[in-house]
Order: sequence, then structure tokens, then C-alpha cells
Amino acid sequence: MRIGIDIDDVMVRSGQVFYQRINERFGLNIEFTKVPSFSYVDEQILKKGYSLEDFYKFLTDMQTKSPYHKELVLRRGGREAIKRLYKNGHIIYLISNRHILILPYTTVWLKNIGILRYLSGVLHNTYTQKPYDLFKIREAKRLKVEVFLEDALDYALPLARNKIDVLTNEFLIL
Ligand SMILES: [Mg+2]
Repeated sequence: MRIGIDIDDVMVRSGQVFYQRINERFGLNIEFTKVPSFSYVDEQILKKGYSLEDFYKFLTDMQTKSPYHKELVLRRGGREAIKRLYKNGHIIYLISNRHILILPYTTVWLKNIGILRYLSGVLHNTYTQKPYDLFKIREAKRLKVEVFLEDALDYALPLARNKIDVLTNEFLIL
């Protein structure tokens, strides 16, 4: 089977660290388990008087110029699950809307945690390509993904509407 897997808050618990950094930088108090959609976060940033360019630059810088990846905790059993899927002949792609500039850092991190060797591809988007769900749909179709593991309803619902089976985890947010 060809499997597409999101990275943040599917492979790795990143939401807590991610929003903590955003809150500190932009003077916000966003609780990551209560974020209804990506546009909600954009709105909070705009309300504080910052531009989305500021915000997206910060996100990219945070994930490339800080020890961000060292703070991320892989999901319990995540490595074993990926290894088992690979050994059973499944084709695995990590498909994330992280910015393309973050890709080398993601790749090194995946190598360090022993997952990269089991993957057939790691794909990132760019924040300038909106709406973001189109990226996941396009890549899932191109790669003939049969099932997608995705936590964000922003993406899970459009993927399902495009006839791609989606499994979500307990974090039905972002
Ligand atoms: Mg996610």
C-alpha cells in the first residue's frame, strides 16, 4: 500500500513547542489543542499588527535557525511502526506543509532519529502556495497515495473529499 503521512503532530509531537514559540514571539496565548484552523492563527497574528510575511518568516527561521528539532519528541512507537510498515512492503511518503526551506533540516532530523531509510520521499510545500490543502491533495494523487495519516482537519477533510482515505489521530486540531 502507498501511505502518505503528515509530520507535525502525527509523526512527532511538535504542537506544544510550536505554539509556545509563536506565543512568545507575537505576544499571544494560543492553546495548541484548541486551534480550530490555520486561518485562526493567521487572524491572531494580524490582530496583533504583524504581517503574515513576518509570521511565515518567523516559522521558517524557527525551524531552521534554532535547535527546534532537538526539542521535538517522536511519537511513542513511531519508529517501530514506520520500520514495520516498510518491512511489510508498504511505500511511505512524508507529506508536510512545512516550508521547502526547512526540508534539509527535516531530512537530517529524520536521519538522526533513524527513520529516513524507510521512506520513499519527504515532501514540503511553501507558505506562498495557498490554499495549503491543495498541495497535499496534489501530491497524494501524484504519488498514488491510498491512505493518508493526517491530524489537521484543514487537510483531512479536503483529502477525504478528493476520495483519498484519511486516518486521523486523537489530536483533531491543526
Ligand atoms: Mg500536522
